[in-house]
Amino acid sequence: MAESGAANWFVMGVDLGSTTAKVAIVDAAGAMVGSKIVQMGAVSREAVRVAMESALEDAGITQDDIVRTISTGYGRKLVPSDKTFTEITCHARGAAALFPGVRLVIDIGGQDSKAIAVDSDGLVDRFAMNDRCASGTGRFFDVLSRALEVPIGEVGDLAMAGSNELEVSSMCATFAETEVISLLAQGAETADIAASVHKAVAARTLGLVAQVGKASPVVMTGGVAKNRALVHFLSEALRLPIEMLDEPQIAGAYGAAIIAREEHLGNVALAAADDATATQFAAGLADAVPHCADCDGQLGLHANHGPVPVTIATRPMVGARSGGREL
Ligand code: ADP
Repeated sequence: MAESGAANWFVMGVDLGSTTAKVAIVDAAGAMVGSKIVQMGAVSREAVRVAMESALEDAGITQDDIVRTISTGYGRKLVPSDKTFTEITCHARGAAALFPGVRLVIDIGGQDSKAIAVDSDGLVDRFAMNDRCASGTGRFFDVLSRALEVPIGEVGDLAMAGSNELEVSSMCATFAETEVISLLAQGAETADIAASVHKAVAARTLGLVAQVGKASPVVMTGGVAKNRALVHFLSEALRLPIEMLDEPQIAGAYGAAIIAREEHLGNVALAAADDATATQFAAGLADAVPHCADCDGQLGLHANHGPVPVTIATRPMVGARSGGREL
């Protein structure tokens, strides 16, 4: 059992993404006392169950000790929880709690990338996202890792050892794989291919950041933040340092847990702010034109719906919470 302080209640944040289930447990004082990240083959209730049980075990408590659970992420509606919040709000909240004063959060997960401008209270001011194309997302790097036959955790180290002068014309995950294989066939070094691809992805991510405006301090969240080459090239492209979190992949779940704690303490304003974010998010999805310059939309599958992620929003979705500015 976790040590009991003045108040011994706990809250849980669950982030069910496209590739991993993440759970964070926070105590009454706001400290993270347990967490778990579970790798999934596909979005899975079982992965959530395992992640929740393991996080409870890590915290040394039982489900009965949890007073509130908030879920977030692509699969948030599959999670048994009291309420759902968008991952935009949760990543902003988590990043602001882990790095107080943060003004720009770049979250790159398995299937989407987001740039989130955060105000001085750690609330979402505006955001831009690309969730219609695997380009520049974790899935893109997973494709690269498979093509180069290097484990995902080593792709960044490989890239840091290479020169980034190769021309990488395609940012489409499907065509990039073909291009990588073709470069390999021409005798290019794997390290040079990795470095060049990382640099190209960083340049593309810079375009996303431009939609919300550059600001610092910058924090990266999501699994791709573990890729030190992308952090390096992105920092170079931004001309700003990127602050590193110890465990960037847990930031969304931690943010959800922080929100659960604040709601338990009576702060209901966060839900209203998140409703505004969710509305912008939905409007952006409905509004965006799905078109891929690389595959010309021919492969026609949404990144969320199949193994071949190909469609792209030619203009990233940009939103603002009420009072924020629309770009
Ligand atoms: P989601 O929430 O969509 O499941 P995550 O934030 O968990 O996504 O990020 C998953 C992605 O993170 C994977 O697709 C993978 O490319 C990347 N990733 C995970 N671990 C590492 C690592 N050690 N080094 C580099 N990239 C990683």
